[in-house]
Amino acid sequence: MERTYLMIKPDGVQRGLIGDIVSRFERKGFTLIASKLMVVTREQAEKHYAEHHGRPYYDDLMSFITSAPVFAMVWEGDQVIALSRIMMGKTNTLEAQPGTIRGDYAVHTNRNLIHGSDSPENAVREIGIFFEPHELL
Ligand code: ATP
Ligand code: MG
Repeated sequence: MERTYLMIKPDGVQRGLIGDIVSRFERKGFTLIASKLMVVTREQAEKHYAEHHGRPYYDDLMSFITSAPVFAMVWEGDQVIALSRIMMGKTNTLEAQPGTIRGDYAVHTNRNLIHGSDSPENAVREIGIFFEPHELL
């Protein structure tokens, strides 16, 4: 059984998509084991997106992700890391297929609604940035 860190970004929260997105993962058959509405601190954002430091979109990404509340979640299930990435759709919204979250609702790559961990190592790392162990049920 795997765990992943999923985060509805400020655009998804502001557009009222929390319910729709949570519902997709529930209906898929995954189990929600932690969630909270929170404002990401600069320190958390820098740790979370450390690998993107220096990229042209980095400053916008930092200010965007800390600009307003996100909905942070931990989900559990078989293959949840890879399957949730498929459900999210491709990073580049021009490549995100209809039926995926980004394909259905996102127009711009820098406002692509949701984050999902891309490996088991990053899942553990990211869960640790945003949640205390006792918050995982
Ligand atoms: P995330 O890590 O947010 O789940 P991802 O894994 O699909 O998204 P990454 O390559 O990790 O994509 O990029 C992290 C985030 O940085 C993207 O979700 C997007 O918001 C932003 N980003 C990445 N590439 C670009 C780009 N070329 N132009 C603008 N923003 C970008
Ligand atoms: Mg990523």
